[in-house]
Amino acid sequence: MTATTVFVSGANGFIASHVVKQLLEKGYNVVGSVRSASKGDKLKELTKSDNFSYEVVPTLDAEGAFDEALKRHPEVTVFLHTASPVTWEATDFEKEIIQPAIKGTKNALAAIKKYAPQIERVVVTSSIAAVADLQSDPKKIYDEDSWNSITYEQGLQNGILAYVASKKFAELAIYDFIKEEKPTFKVSTVQPVYVFGPQAYGIDGALNVSAQFVNSIAQLGPSDKITEQSGSFIDVRDVAKAHIVAFEKDEAIDQRLVLVSEPFSFDGIARVINENFPDSKVPKGDLAKDEELKKNVHNYNTSKTHKILGFDFIPFEQSIIESVKQIYESK
Ligand code: NAP
Repeated sequence: MTATTVFVSGANGFIASHVVKQLLEKGYNVVGSVRSASKGDKLKELTKSDNFSYEVVPTLDAEGAFDEALKRHPEVTVFLHTASPVTWEATDFEKEIIQPAIKGTKNALAAIKKYAPQIERVVVTSSIAAVADLQSDPKKIYDEDSWNSITYEQGLQNGILAYVASKKFAELAIYDFIKEEKPTFKVSTVQPVYVFGPQAYGIDGALNVSAQFVNSIAQLGPSDKITEQSGSFIDVRDVAKAHIVAFEKDEAIDQRLVLVSEPFSFDGIARVINENFPDSKVPKGDLAKDEELKKNVHNYNTSKTHKILGFDFIPFEQSIIESVKQIYESK
């Protein structure tokens, strides 16, 4: 039997590299899209696999961005759309963050409908940003049916709001497309909180925004101050695994899979580093502050997601230890 071929957009990204790695390990063929041939060649070399190939898709928002890539691969039957701007820094928030996210999603779906009618399953990497408001309401429990109340106009105010709006409105674009175009493919979304964890193929160059959170604490010196920051975390390997379950299981069709492992604070990250890496110079991390900061984190009920996925998530401590081990070893 010929193996299923899966298309992964933004294949060199932090999350997508793990998706590619796990797909190859499971015996799938993978076609990844990247922004340049040099990025594609690098990923090809890292995968060490004949079952990986790449297509160059330089910009998400160019009209027909995915058309040629899909025309060249009639063997693809699953499309995982992970590519989207993951940055809070831009001079033009709408042009550089919001629109590429929305248009990228629309372009991917339109190309599938027009040039790849054999594609049956589509998984889009959305975000918790589309689910929960930025400020937590301690009385509120967010679940798979929750939506961030942010408006498009609010998204134009700064980089963080632009990213949040980009994820919400890119996801809404999926449902508009389904309503208007009535495609034959089935869609699932994956909605992770902050994604930590080691890089799929080792550290080579700058880390993405969320992996950089852990790296920034790992690089602190004894007298450095720990920023007051908290949130919820999920390990990147679980996020990758969820993308695969999302197209393998029929129960995931039309579902928003909300991925939340545990709450964290930067003090908590420092504590784990301190306890597990005796040679590190990272400050101890204030346990009381860690507990206090974690109280401000959103509450979730994601039992529906857990039932569909059917696997347990990697705990915070393990994820931090494995990320930091890789960081220190790469020095
Ligand atoms: P990442 O490492 O920055 O990967 C993003 C990917 O998208 C890269 O391949 C990047 O290409 C590509 N990309 C970005 N802007 C593009 C554009 N304008 N045109 C074409 N390609 C573009 O980030 P990640 O953390 O893996 O994120 C992957 C997905 O997960 C995103 O949809 C993100 O919103 C979502 N997500 C991430 C987190 C998190 O904490 N990391 C949490 C929730 C959801 P280059 O490498 O060439 O720039």
